[in-house]
Amino acid sequence: MGELHERLPETAAYMHGPPPRKVVAARAKPLEGPPSVTDTPEPAKPHFRSDVTVELVKSDARDADVLFAARVSTAGEQSLEEVTKDPERSKGLINYLMRDRHGSPFEHNSMTFFVSAPIFVFREFMRHRVGWSYNEESGRYRELEPVFYVPGTSRKLVQQGRPGKYEFVQGTEEQYDVTTRAMEESYRASYEAYQEMLAKGVAREVARAVLPVGLFSSMYATCNARSLMHFLGLRTQHELAKVPSFPQREIEMVGEQMETHWQQLMPLTHAAFNKNGRVAP
Ligand SMILES: Cc1cc2nc3c(=O)[nH]c(=O)nc-3n(C[C@H](O)[C@H](O)[C@H](O)COP(=O)(O)OP(=O)(O)OC[C@H]3O[C@@H](n4cnc5c(N)ncnc54)[C@H](O)[C@@H]3O)c2cc1C
Repeated sequence: MGELHERLPETAAYMHGPPPRKVVAARAKPLEGPPSVTDTPEPAKPHFRSDVTVELVKSDARDADVLFAARVSTAGEQSLEEVTKDPERSKGLINYLMRDRHGSPFEHNSMTFFVSAPIFVFREFMRHRVGWSYNEESGRYRELEPVFYVPGTSRKLVQQGRPGKYEFVQGTEEQYDVTTRAMEESYRASYEAYQEMLAKGVAREVARAVLPVGLFSSMYATCNARSLMHFLGLRTQHELAKVPSFPQREIEMVGEQMETHWQQLMPLTHAAFNKNGRVAP
């Protein structure tokens, strides 16, 4: 975790790390007033989550940006107002670009998301190399919060069928119970080991080795509509998909929230994506 920050020069700013955008852990209440010599900081209590956070923190993304880029060579049509002036024509052009896979006009926009999700989701996410920029919180420069993933009851637990052709079905009550208990026990034990090492003065970058991939991390991820569509085509399951994909449910949960934000920003582009089988142009 935090590999991007690790490659940055260790300036004073990065030694302390940028402040986390959002406190995702339920931390112990801070002590009131100045600490006395007998006060010892309370260890943070593990916190378990079955959801993920996706926030759109900034964006410059409109359907008009696609038209603007596509019409650059057409005299007199370089206006961002075009989309409202003739919506049917705009819709038609966006659909044509999507259908014939003229992809570059979909790159002239930008969306930055704050994502908080388990590390195993981030491992999958960062395989998406093209058209994405990432900055993840550092486990070297600050103590990691004890926030861990435990699947909710709607998360199908049992895989049936052979590799490449399988489906997930609901677990029994017993399977949910054992999953919850085993995960929580294991998370508590690993976080205690982490705290023990930190208390003895072991560096954060060494102690973090005991923490599991179910630990939550956070990042900013910036993309454009084209790279987001490629991601959504691979990381969501959808009845309109021409090429079905079978992503892990937890990264799909991130993808679904990103799609909701994007759909509001670029409704015509989103509709054309669906109409053309959810294949990125
Ligand atoms: C359901 C599922 C299961 C998966 N299972 C595994 C697994 O078991 N093990 C595993 O390692 N990964 C796995 N992956 C990850 C997968 O192999 C891709 O790394 C990931 O989906 C990112 O896709 P991408 O390379 O197309 O995206 P990006 O890296 O964003 O690339 C976008 C596009 O750019 C082009 N491109 C990028 N880099 C190159 C390059 N070096 N050479 C040529 N063209 C390039 C390609 O056209 C590519 O589609 C899985 C992905 C999915 C969706």
